[in-house]
Amino acid sequence: MSSSQRSVLDGLKRGLRRRCPNCGEGRLFAGYLKVDPTCARCGHDNSRYRADDGPAYVTVLLAGHLLVAPMLVFPVIWEADPMLVAPLAMAGVGAVTLAGLAFIKGGWIGLMWANGSDRTQQ
Ligand SMILES: [Zn+2]
Repeated sequence: MSSSQRSVLDGLKRGLRRRCPNCGEGRLFAGYLKVDPTCARCGHDNSRYRADDGPAYVTVLLAGHLLVAPMLVFPVIWEADPMLVAPLAMAGVGAVTLAGLAFIKGGWIGLMWANGSDRTQQ
């Protein structure tokens, strides 16, 4: 599929489902975050998308807004014992971050596919 036919919405949807951005069928990851270099379904080279720190940045941004905002809004949270709130908050941030990172990395790679990022590195 040429880069002119690539849709941002298709790339994002396929990536968020952790599927190959090119066909939407094959698995994008060989492990938790390791990109499968070649799609088993269509043979697309997914190793050319270098996500680097982008997905981690977006994940931390989302986790921060999801968990810090309630802490600022509800006084019962910041008036409680810090020895109780700190471990609970850290566990919540860790859980949300780990749960969301693979999906966000998939979406990031889908956006890179849609924007033809793989074409600029050749
Ligand atoms: Zn594929």
